[in-house]
Amino acid sequence: MGLLAILALIGCEASTNSVPAFDGGAPDSTTLDADLPPMPDASTDASTDAGVDAQPPRPEGVAPANLVPDATAEVPSLETALAPGESRLVRVEVGASEHVGFGLFFDPSDADVVMYVDRFDGTGESELGLTDGGPGVRFLAVFEPEGARTHWVRIEAGADAFTGTLSIVHTPFEDGAHCLDDCDHLLQLPLPRDPAVDGYRWIPSTVLRYWFGRRDLLMMLRHAGQTMSALGHEPFEPGDLSQWDGETPGTDRGAPRHASHQRGKDVDITLYGDDGRAFWRSYCDTFAASGGRECLAGTAHGLDGETDAILYGAMLESGRVTMSFLDRELIPIVSTGAETAAPACAFWPSSSPRARGHHLQHWPNHDNHIQVRVSEDPYPATALSLPFAFEPP
Ligand SMILES: [Zn+2]
Repeated sequence: MGLLAILALIGCEASTNSVPAFDGGAPDSTTLDADLPPMPDASTDASTDAGVDAQPPRPEGVAPANLVPDATAEVPSLETALAPGESRLVRVEVGASEHVGFGLFFDPSDADVVMYVDRFDGTGESELGLTDGGPGVRFLAVFEPEGARTHWVRIEAGADAFTGTLSIVHTPFEDGAHCLDDCDHLLQLPLPRDPAVDGYRWIPSTVLRYWFGRRDLLMMLRHAGQTMSALGHEPFEPGDLSQWDGETPGTDRGAPRHASHQRGKDVDITLYGDDGRAFWRSYCDTFAASGGRECLAGTAHGLDGETDAILYGAMLESGRVTMSFLDRELIPIVSTGAETAAPACAFWPSSSPRARGHHLQHWPNHDNHIQVRVSEDPYPATALSLPFAFEPP
């Protein structure tokens, strides 16, 4: 992956904090979407049929046909009607390098419905994730970079009967630092198979139906996660991207949670503290300004600028990051971190000290996360030079 070569790069210049300030914007908020799932067991266990009359060996990752006998075979679109307490189980074969998205649209829209995805772990079913929130919709996605793997999608009716349509969409997908094709395709960020390997995780406040991004944004995020996990860092926590329909998260409830975040171009993610962890928390003392919450001057604390510079650098590596948003008290900590943190400095602009904060812009309500945006310009456009107009976050 070139990481060693990158690590060898040193010599980034000193930085100053001379980024112009803008104020305003909508506050971010969180809602409770689901309970934290058990961590999946990523072990694999190939088994073969060795009998004289054996059929061709079952590929590693493909579950025995009778493992979950009540599961029905996959169809692209499945009409389903469940009575209270009933469930429906569908077996899905996810191919290698395949992103598979599960989408359920149901009536009545306030019905108590839970959708789960289980993954074959070599011996049985291992729960990858679940979603139980949102009016009339449920979405989950999985991705198998290494080989085919059996999954099961499970829909459960709670206290309410409902009718709905489950769609299962297979899309070719690959990891990488750079997107090469179909880069504006809106897809749901896959559930991590193992947060310690994928480098990102979801938490009870994660709203998975707001985890839809452009293909290049998803690749950027996954590349950042793999970079951090390869360096031994904890997983970070992506917050909102866009809704499944490309709208600003919260639009489905009539209460948009951001000014931007449309079409899958933006993502909010957590930052690393000097305790090595990256969960949602403020890194300063805040006050209520006209545009939202801002850091009081001189109160920044606990932020690990070097590690966050590596995280942001891994996203800059895409060549498609336009403007990103962070509180003005935190920007110099991260841009200073880029001076000393290989491999971060390889991807941060280095033409002038000022360039260190080049793509980082102050905005209220960004004391507890960074918002990263990718360009919507047609490929292969990459370079952006200041000043350029940008949409408020
Ligand atoms: Zn944000």
